[in-house]
Amino acid sequence: METLISTSYTPVGDILVIAIIGIFVILIRAAYIKPSKEFRLFKWILVVLTLAAYTNIVYHLALSNFDHIPAIVPYALRFLYHQCLFINLECYIFYIEYTMQLLPSEQKAFPLAGLFGLIGFGVIDILGTVFGFGFRITDDFRITSQVNLFLIEYLFFVGIALFMIVKFRDRVYKPIIGAFILTIAIALILMYIQGLFNQQSFTTSTFVFPALSVLYLLHSNPYDLEMGSLKLDSFESDLQHRIQAGKKFAILSILLHEFEAAGHKYPKEMRDIIRSYVEGYFNGAALFQITGGRMEMVVDLDLNPDYKERTKQILDVFHDHYNLYKYDYKIIIVRSEDGITNPDDYIALIQYVENRMPENQIKYVDEDILNKFSSHKYIVDELNDINEKQDLNDDRVLVYCQPVYNLRTGRYDTAEALMRLTLPQTGMVYPDRFIPIAEKHNCIHMLSLIILAKTCKQIRKMLNEGYVIKRISVNFSILDIREKEFSQNVQRIVNDCGIPMDKIAIEITESQNQKDFDAVKETFRQLKSSGITFYLDDFGTGYSNFERIMELPFDIIKFDRSLVMASRSDSKSETMVSYLAHMFTDMNYSVLYEGIEYEEDEKLCTQMYARYLQGYKYAKPIPIQELDKYFVKASHV
Ligand code: C2E
Ligand code: CA
Ligand code: CA
Repeated sequence: METLISTSYTPVGDILVIAIIGIFVILIRAAYIKPSKEFRLFKWILVVLTLAAYTNIVYHLALSNFDHIPAIVPYALRFLYHQCLFINLECYIFYIEYTMQLLPSEQKAFPLAGLFGLIGFGVIDILGTVFGFGFRITDDFRITSQVNLFLIEYLFFVGIALFMIVKFRDRVYKPIIGAFILTIAIALILMYIQGLFNQQSFTTSTFVFPALSVLYLLHSNPYDLEMGSLKLDSFESDLQHRIQAGKKFAILSILLHEFEAAGHKYPKEMRDIIRSYVEGYFNGAALFQITGGRMEMVVDLDLNPDYKERTKQILDVFHDHYNLYKYDYKIIIVRSEDGITNPDDYIALIQYVENRMPENQIKYVDEDILNKFSSHKYIVDELNDINEKQDLNDDRVLVYCQPVYNLRTGRYDTAEALMRLTLPQTGMVYPDRFIPIAEKHNCIHMLSLIILAKTCKQIRKMLNEGYVIKRISVNFSILDIREKEFSQNVQRIVNDCGIPMDKIAIEITESQNQKDFDAVKETFRQLKSSGITFYLDDFGTGYSNFERIMELPFDIIKFDRSLVMASRSDSKSETMVSYLAHMFTDMNYSVLYEGIEYEEDEKLCTQMYARYLQGYKYAKPIPIQELDKYFVKASHV
């Protein structure tokens, strides 16, 4: 049975598609879009769709001139048109695969199914025409077709796409899944309505809908409507473009602290001023509002050979306005450097300089700053590497140790473990240099665990050799305590080494905020029964909230070196420190004095209820392997 199909077509739908894609191209050029592989695929989608639209127009032209041209022409054009549409659907399937971040094992199946469909249906389509069961154009210009192969193939691809979206829906932000599904639904509805009215003009348009949602949802980098400037991502990709193109540029970075809080922005007059001056003083400068108070301007140096004078002028203007508004600022000017090939490094450099400069200054990044930054970056990279390798024996992390004198036993039987780094390019690095960096880059916990593991190992060794060791204390930061697995990690490492838990102590300083205090309390509760000892470090430097100190099961209070120095120099302080130590002792805490440097300190602290003494007078920090020089063997006790 042959069914007769007579459909109406006007090129308006396809012309609309070409126009919309033209607009896409304009938008893409104006916005900063990360040149990812998804984005390359997106561009291919646009190319294929444009080709489809043109082909469809020409195909219908050929149909209406059927009697003047070779018959193969409309057949070929129709075939090409359908293949373009289905290649486009195959691209969407790849697109979904990228977006859903499929595992390598899942990756191939869907695009492969699509590819088989593409070839299989293509072959059937040709055979259908040749053997008469498919698409045919009769001599009286009527189109006949027994089966609607196009519809079957269309549903086949839509089916794969929907299946992927539903199956892997957990991998993508929910509203995006919803938007994809609705987009497909709207395309299907439009196809259906078009069918009801025997239309064919809008087929290609429905294939543009997914592209529209892809561009909007996944590649959009909306402008700041007032500033015309863009967010951090865009700043990065702008720098990336310039670096790749080998362009010389300068970045002018302005930070106004007051507007850094969420939801704040520069006052409107100020923004208008900045925008107008940037546009007025520089050729083609790009302006990026990164956060409420942070703006970055990037200037091409080849287009602006006089950028130095211009910068000076713009800073003068800025200064005048500063006198008016009095907002604290930090301004940094960086020139592109051949050695820096990563946009993130420029951003890190700006932050590095910002963190180290006073308010209301302008800093030009010079050689000296660059060198300091590069050694800082070197430490950051090494710390990140240590953190990633997770090797408890990492030999870049060294344990130094300061023996602690025990007044009750008259011996050195405890010690404090102190961290050092030894890095290939810089040699020894001290904690005051790298601990703040490690904390900032979230690497501190790994370092602490390495110190703990190495300390346990040394204790194990010395216990085996017969030394008397009461315990060694290890410093932990509040960031360690915030780790969910902190207690388990500590217990696992100590147990794995096969030493009793009471050979280890945890030193921490007071924490001011309630949440951290609660975390410390909970951690101590989990660990207390194991027999581990707790030291309160640096007593006398913080807030010394007694209520809180009492609430935690500390065993030893470490009086900071500043208290020792104060007691040494004035008698009022001495009285106060002595009272405090007395009070703690009465309440069953042991008092340890830090920073004992002179004979005099030792005498003073011994009178002030000291149980333990630590300081250069006894020993400077030494490599932990040398601790046996201070400790004694049980047989000598
Ligand atoms: P801290 O916990 O107060 O450690 C004592 C610091 O005082 C050590 O400095 C030690 O060398 C120094 N010191 C000891 N006796 C004397 C003395 O008589 N006079 C003077 N002037 N100083 C003395 P270090 O090793 O440079 O450590 C500095 C800080 O770094 C430590 O202060 C601690 O807060 C931190 N730190 C060290 N190791 C670690 C660690 O493994 N983890 C964590 N989170 N922090 C650590
Ligand atoms: Ca300490
Ligand atoms: Ca201390």
